[in-house]
Amino acid sequence: MAAANEAERTRRIAVIGAGVVGVCAALWLQRDGHRVCLIEPGNPGEGASFGNAGCFNGSSVTPMAMPGVVKQVPRWLMDPLGPLALRWSYLPTILPYLVRFVRAATPEKVRAQARAMRPLVGPTVPLVRELANMAGAEELVHQRGHLYVYRSAESMAKDGFAWALRRENGVEVDEFDADELRQLEPTLSREYVRGLLVRENGHTSNPLGLVTRFVELFRRQGGEIVSARALGFRLDGRRLTAIATDRGDVAADATVVCAGAFSKPLAAMLGDKVPLETERGYHVMIRDPEVMPRIPTADADGKFVATPMDTGLRFAGTVELAGLDAPPNWRRSQILLNQGRRMLPGLAADHAEERISMWMGHRPAMPDSLPVIGPSRASPDVVYAFGHGHVGMTAAPMTGKIVADLLSGRPAPIDIAPFAATRFG
Ligand SMILES: Cc1cc2nc3c(=O)[nH]c(=O)nc-3n(C[C@H](O)[C@H](O)[C@H](O)COP(=O)(O)OP(=O)(O)OC[C@H]3O[C@@H](n4cnc5c(N)ncnc54)[C@H](O)[C@@H]3O)c2cc1C
Repeated sequence: MAAANEAERTRRIAVIGAGVVGVCAALWLQRDGHRVCLIEPGNPGEGASFGNAGCFNGSSVTPMAMPGVVKQVPRWLMDPLGPLALRWSYLPTILPYLVRFVRAATPEKVRAQARAMRPLVGPTVPLVRELANMAGAEELVHQRGHLYVYRSAESMAKDGFAWALRRENGVEVDEFDADELRQLEPTLSREYVRGLLVRENGHTSNPLGLVTRFVELFRRQGGEIVSARALGFRLDGRRLTAIATDRGDVAADATVVCAGAFSKPLAAMLGDKVPLETERGYHVMIRDPEVMPRIPTADADGKFVATPMDTGLRFAGTVELAGLDAPPNWRRSQILLNQGRRMLPGLAADHAEERISMWMGHRPAMPDSLPVIGPSRASPDVVYAFGHGHVGMTAAPMTGKIVADLLSGRPAPIDIAPFAATRFG
């Protein structure tokens, strides 16, 4: 019995996907004494975790599908500068997802989603700091809050339900009028007349740098990176024996599926049909910008974020529904650049090409904005951790902890029932 318990304590665990979620899970699993490998076909941290806005926003409890969102969609789609774009050829494929998305947007469901999300995202700053301290990456994590800015009191009033939800879930918010906003962030355009600051939120000034430091710690602690693509699972009854990859089998007693937007076919092999989609997002960066806000700042109407980073100023956001295979539409990044220049008038109207870089990435999105975390239908040895959508950086540290608890035979630290893969039938 003692030997069995010991075996349970130190398992060979293969983590599929080395994005921020996989890498955080790997570190917590190592802390529990497991022998961990990361299976990753590309470079760690170069998926969605590379180009995001870098925000660790514990206040991010509101789903994408908010009541009334359906009414706004036609306006957004007609507006070439709008925050949402759809490739019409992709509409038939994404239609079932959109139906679920609309169904998830009732006030009752949204309240329940926010309640489920708060324990997952709320502790993000202390948890990411704990990991950063372990990895010697303290200087990459900052806590200056997150500022949401509005061009009119009316547009702020439109977000009233979202702010009420955040407050209901324990988020403290400070409000600023136009003059106070100017003092807080002098670089911002005077068009903004209202600001809301959430002081509990943090950010990293280098998302790839942070994941890379975590990976270095993982290796120092004996972790192995298998450069391969996971293709399936070898099961003996309900017990896992190995992961099938394009480079052969990797023996494992347990595994975590955290391949981000690419996780759907892996879950399907285990009998879990999940409506995972990609919400493609873009960024544009200006190296050596003329001005930079000190606090990560979201233009609440434009739905993009300006984040001060070590390598320059990053504008990130927009949602494009076009699937995993379509080539990027760099006009989306150009639009972000134009909007960013309007947000920060101190920026030059033109920048030399070599100072500008653009990126597109795949947010792993679920229609109810809740991730999939928990055991698979086919085996308790296979645990899911994907589908974090717009908040994967924020939710990764707690998601990793949950995974480590489940695979170490402990109860999850928070209620994970709302994140079950089986919630879609
Ligand atoms: C523009 C933009 C801005 C964002 N801003 C923020 C923000 O400010 N704050 C926040 O919290 N979140 C933000 N996000 C969301 C966040 O980036 C994602 O939710 C998060 O990075 C997802 O992490 P992940 O580890 O699940 O996926 P990924 O980082 O995509 O990693 C998945 C990994 O799995 C690998 N993989 C794929 N298939 C396989 C396979 N078969 N076998 C093995 N490996 C495989 C991939 O190569 C990849 O490395 C933003 C996203 C975008 C696009």
